[in-house]
Amino acid sequence: MFGNLSDRLSQSFKQLRGRGVLTEADVDNTIGQIRRALLDADVALPVVRQFTTDVREKAYGAARSKALNPGQQVVRIVHDELVEILGGETRELHFASRGPTVFMLAGLQGAGKTTLAGKLGKWLREEGRSVLLVASDLQRPGAVHQLQVVGGRAGVGVWAPEPGDGVGDPVEVARSGLAHALESGIDVVVVDTAGRLGVDQEMMDQAIAIREAVHPHEILFVLDAMVGQDAVRTSTAFRDGVGFTGVVLSKLDGDARGGAALSVRGVTGAPVLFASTGEGLDDFERFHADRMAGRILDMGDVMTLIEQAEKRMDQAEAQKVAAKAMSGELTLDDFLSQLQQVRRLGSMKKVLGMIPGMGQMRDQLENFDEREVDRVEAIVRSMTPAERTDVSILNGSRRARIARGSGTTVTDVNGLVKRFEAAKAMMGQMGQMSGMPGMGSMPG
Ligand code: GDP
Repeated sequence: MFGNLSDRLSQSFKQLRGRGVLTEADVDNTIGQIRRALLDADVALPVVRQFTTDVREKAYGAARSKALNPGQQVVRIVHDELVEILGGETRELHFASRGPTVFMLAGLQGAGKTTLAGKLGKWLREEGRSVLLVASDLQRPGAVHQLQVVGGRAGVGVWAPEPGDGVGDPVEVARSGLAHALESGIDVVVVDTAGRLGVDQEMMDQAIAIREAVHPHEILFVLDAMVGQDAVRTSTAFRDGVGFTGVVLSKLDGDARGGAALSVRGVTGAPVLFASTGEGLDDFERFHADRMAGRILDMGDVMTLIEQAEKRMDQAEAQKVAAKAMSGELTLDDFLSQLQQVRRLGSMKKVLGMIPGMGQMRDQLENFDEREVDRVEAIVRSMTPAERTDVSILNGSRRARIARGSGTTVTDVNGLVKRFEAAKAMMGQMGQMSGMPGMGSMPG
């Protein structure tokens, strides 16, 4: 997401680059472009006004001080302002000091609440807490079963009404779920609630009744980032109805223009606490305003990448491979193991998108074919252990055999071997120069 907004913002900075000093006319011109870019991204009007007013004031200041590098100055000002409207400092979650903590989920039908319950459950479990998901969405057919499925995948318990209990009372389910958690010493209860396709009073009343029954420590409002201008109406309705303490932005992986993400904090005053970026249970992260601003401005998000790498990759293996790479001894087996580790971080598109400067290659990134990675894996797997250790033994007939075995062509095999050898040589040289360990052991 943010692709178009990122492009438009970089475009507006471009003409400042190379200028010796910044004039007020430059500032006005740039602000006009930023304003249009934000409006086209569906950012709420009051937020756009606030944003452009603040940026203008600071940029005028920079112009008056005749600061050097006006382009960089303005990028910095826009960055800081983006961080501001995205919520500034990341707030910690509120947990109960004693007894179970209750998180209640609210939002429209299809916003991603049930999916989020599973993600949150897994995330909390990995943080060392015991979790119970409570199925208080008795409205949507299949919601209870869906929660049981995601709970199972997340490895956490699910509290649901017995089938055959008739329609059931969602408030009662929430209350009994909490009582059960208290009895069994469970740390966190996540209550999934019903949504409608649009806001209606009955749904809001039910959410309020559940809130009164379980006194949540956090009410998380789940907002589909794809909804554009509707985001303002929906989030104010929920703020004024059941109320909420934090926002979860879902579907940030889609091609949403970004308006909801940039508006929700300014419109409701509640911080965005999490971002949901896909249908899988791991497609979920804490929302950090500074990192998100970095992504919008194509500065990448290396911090999130490193955190995910720490969580999902085998550190000892990565270190071993890095050391071998630096001493110029990398083999295709090492490469294969690294490739598999990187794939645990998510799709290549997602991983590459977090690397600074990749925005300029957005088109290639959008068209990135994940099957290319499958092909590379298939080629390496079709090699014998001896070939993987020493690619120099790969003569014509071996290459033809590998191509056949992997369902690729000899040209594909040649390409991979060539890129691997080049990367290996480069990393060997880097190792000689600095002895610096690194992650990048991927040819191509
Ligand atoms: P609920 O009605 O609020 O409980 O919504 P669900 O959790 O059932 O989600 C509705 C649909 O959105 C499902 O098909 C989910 O797989 C999908 N979904 C949820 N979160 C995300 C996300 O972050 N990204 C994408 N691409 N899809 C999501």
